[in-house]
Amino acid sequence: MRIWFLILSAVVIGSPAFAQYESIADLKVAKPEDKQDAKSTPAPSGALVLFDGKNLDQWVKRNDPKTTATWKLLDGGIMQVNGGDIITKELFDGSFTLHVEFRVPYMPKASGQGRGNSGVYLQGRYEVQVLDSYGLDSKDNDCGGIYTIAKPLVNACKAPTVWQTYDIDYTSPKFVDGKKTEPGHITVLHNGVKIHDNVTITKDNTTSGLGGDPSKPGPILLQDHGNPVQYRNIWLVKKTAK
Ligand code: MG
Repeated sequence: MRIWFLILSAVVIGSPAFAQYESIADLKVAKPEDKQDAKSTPAPSGALVLFDGKNLDQWVKRNDPKTTATWKLLDGGIMQVNGGDIITKELFDGSFTLHVEFRVPYMPKASGQGRGNSGVYLQGRYEVQVLDSYGLDSKDNDCGGIYTIAKPLVNACKAPTVWQTYDIDYTSPKFVDGKKTEPGHITVLHNGVKIHDNVTITKDNTTSGLGGDPSKPGPILLQDHGNPVQYRNIWLVKKTAK
């Protein structure tokens, strides 16, 4: 009996899926589709593919931009937070659409900002929050919030461990002779639901962003907030130059 228990324990503990993401079978959901993955959208022709699951060639470490990112590549075309924030090699400006798919772990014993926290930063400066905010009355620091700037119009979150999507339309701020003449704007679809409609970016940097000169181009940054958040299928379509 004991030997079977040990073998079973080894199998279960050795299973990455089990070790990373607990079952959400005990989680009560408002509607069944909250436990169903959002539809994955392939990169359209002409898109810049930032992550297709094969490698991290487009990404470097935030704190050591000469070094390729060390996030874990997992089966299923997935990368998982590991070893600090990562940024794209390429810097962006002007208008673009960014598609990101992500999922957060089920952390029933954690709460608030400690529950599946990561984030997608535009130009490395403005965070669209990634967090387990399922079922909450969302604030500007919850999932889909533009951190400390705007709360989502509605909470469009799916349950933790379920794949979700962001489609972000971004326009960088405009400057003339170093003076800001127009702020940046963000529209966000979360799982296909519009949660921000051309929101004005009222700051030059949100918490833990790269900062720097806001008139300069910046990378896409994915945040390591210490939780094993996963990403897949990330692509970007440039619309207009600055
Ligand atoms: Mg975050």
